[in-house]
Amino acid sequence: MKKIKVTIWNELLHERGEGKVADAIRKFYPDGIHAYLKEALAADDLEIRAVSLDQPAQGLPDELLNDTDVLMWWGHVAHDKVCDELVAKIAERVRYGMGLIVLHSGHLSKIFRTLMGTRCRLHWRECGEKERLWVVAPEHPVAKGIPETFVIPNSEMYGERFDIPDDGKIVFMSWYEGGNVFRSGVAFQRDSGKIFYFSPGHEAYPIYHDSNIQKILANAIRWAAPAEILAPRVTPQPEPAEPITTPNPLKALDTSALHKTV
Ligand code: ZN
Repeated sequence: MKKIKVTIWNELLHERGEGKVADAIRKFYPDGIHAYLKEALAADDLEIRAVSLDQPAQGLPDELLNDTDVLMWWGHVAHDKVCDELVAKIAERVRYGMGLIVLHSGHLSKIFRTLMGTRCRLHWRECGEKERLWVVAPEHPVAKGIPETFVIPNSEMYGERFDIPDDGKIVFMSWYEGGNVFRSGVAFQRDSGKIFYFSPGHEAYPIYHDSNIQKILANAIRWAAPAEILAPRVTPQPEPAEPITTPNPLKALDTSALHKTV
């Protein structure tokens, strides 16, 4: 069986912070969210690697990125530290087929905003209120086996308006105790690559310990995994499949300069 190669990237800063909140985070994620998810999502058909921003090449050297079928991304306070060259490489690989799963505060990551083309802002409130998730696309592979609704006892509120493009398929919606609503799970496609944004995952609550949340992430990995990653190629100039008999009105002119690429 060919395994899906998954790389979980984490900025790994909250887990290494100081103070009582950081202590609480370490209780849930002693080795970091990425290390926890690597263990929690382990399965025979997955080869999971966990990496972080502090590692060489910001955790994603070319050898690893080019050997990744699905990239999972958790970032919050260090979006601006991720270098533009790396973001461009990730975006290009997604366009050629690599799956991308963007978690929680990754909505403002460079890679998500690059691929969405919008600001990706939202309303938020952090007071530990209840979140109720609803499956609104039960036929979608990411919702497979998930109950119609379930509760996260403590969550950070992410609320509308969430300025993402309208071409996403809404799989999950959330309602919060304070009355806000949010498109909490949305699936996109950019060229050949599938992208899933999933909002639950605030670091100070054990949200990734929840079995429904883990099942959603596992589903998302298998949905986003490409059948193949296409090798980059120059746009071809194909020979016509049928003979063209229409006279070319520009035949007498040299039009080659119009088609020069940079
Ligand atoms: Zn948060």
